[in-house]
Amino acid sequence: VHRRGLGKKLYIKTYGCQMNAYDSARMADILAPLGFSQTDDPAGADLAIVNTCHIREKATDKLFADLGRLRGHQAAKAAAGGRMLLAVAGCVAQAEGAEVRRRAPFVDVVMGPQAYHRLPEFLARAVRDGGGVLETDFAVDEKFDALPAPAAGQFSANLTVQEGCDKFCTFCVVPYTRGAEYSRPVAGVLAEAGRLAQGGASEIVVLGQNVNAYHGAGPDGESWSLGRLLGALAAIDGVRRLRYMTSHPLEVDDDLARAHRDVAELMPFVHLPAQSGSDRILAAMNRRYGVAQYRRAVDRLRAARPDLAVSSDFIVGFPGETETDFAATLDLARTVGFAQAYAFKYSPRPGTPAAAMAGQVPEPVKARRLAELLAVVAEQQLAFNRAFEGRDVPVLLDRAGRRPGQLHGRSPHMQAVHVAAAPAMLGRTVAVRVERALSNSLAGRLAEPVSARRGAAVRASAADSGAIL
Ligand code: SF4
Repeated sequence: VHRRGLGKKLYIKTYGCQMNAYDSARMADILAPLGFSQTDDPAGADLAIVNTCHIREKATDKLFADLGRLRGHQAAKAAAGGRMLLAVAGCVAQAEGAEVRRRAPFVDVVMGPQAYHRLPEFLARAVRDGGGVLETDFAVDEKFDALPAPAAGQFSANLTVQEGCDKFCTFCVVPYTRGAEYSRPVAGVLAEAGRLAQGGASEIVVLGQNVNAYHGAGPDGESWSLGRLLGALAAIDGVRRLRYMTSHPLEVDDDLARAHRDVAELMPFVHLPAQSGSDRILAAMNRRYGVAQYRRAVDRLRAARPDLAVSSDFIVGFPGETETDFAATLDLARTVGFAQAYAFKYSPRPGTPAAAMAGQVPEPVKARRLAELLAVVAEQQLAFNRAFEGRDVPVLLDRAGRRPGQLHGRSPHMQAVHVAAAPAMLGRTVAVRVERALSNSLAGRLAEPVSARRGAAVRASAADSGAIL
């Protein structure tokens, strides 16, 4: 039944990674034909979804705080004679669904990440039967086929190609919440990318929890690597920029290095979490590589693409981490030369092996180590960004900037760039003369056209002119 236009309001609160953002967008897409349009205001919404992330600290506490607030809106709506349905999605729902049902019986639907395509069915069941729906089965292969095509209108679009993980790092819940590794078949990925490009996305960000472990079934009957998939995505009309995340150092292979060498659309950026610079801690984390192997993975990619920007994640204060281990992490951060890095204090996730390990590091020690590491990282980022001062960089303007009259975009190396530009330039790739580098962004002005050094990122289209590349 086509029920578009019934004016139902959908509120979604999203926590966590880009994969959750992608999933929230897909949920909105699947609900649109039922008459739901998105709102930023939970008051009066007909359906509120909290899409949760288990990685962040106090994820469960935050969820229950959110649910408490939403319950108030639910009651107000009921008092006015309406009904607000409440759903909890994402990794907390997957890991602690029964607990959510028990502590928040006013929630109508609790569902894990593999069940979103069945959301309309769950809502119908909740309305019909009452009593709530709990769905946390793993059936990831069904999900992608059943979800609708992403909505058009984004200039930089996410595309999930792989979910789940078999690596079982001892601090991480992903293998328990997202299940075993699953790669989408190539044909579905290419079809979705084609639709995104047609809808105006010139950049595609290929997502997966372990994206470079991708091994999707190709149309030729072979299993395709990420490198091969990136090559095929680059050939799609309208795709000018490609990125991928998050990668595991162990899965950096020749195909991926070749893609960085040969695929001009593939941006010179890799997010390759190191987590620690100590072999002892890496072993305790079950990361399955040592520091030397990590450095080799970086070197291999840099040999293929010398201007590659490398980004990382670090955890400080993992159980058993000594000052010597931490010094090794500082050394790795200093010597690799990261363009970006994220650092977190270790915080135990219930049910993971590390949560039960001896040698938990006291909070003040973790805080001090985090501050030290962040200072090194900020220094590195600033040095990386400063090298761009006075240069022209091609920037895809993807959204409004923070200040009026400004647009925001990304350089090939993933730096955030703010520039004064007319709203009509959104979606264009323009040359920006970098005037000032900060540790987290670049500021500049629109520049005269620069010559294309690596073709695709700055390929001119007939409609582009002036400073627009
Ligand atoms: S590889 Fe990444 S997703 Fe997999 S268990 Fe380790 S940290 Fe978690």
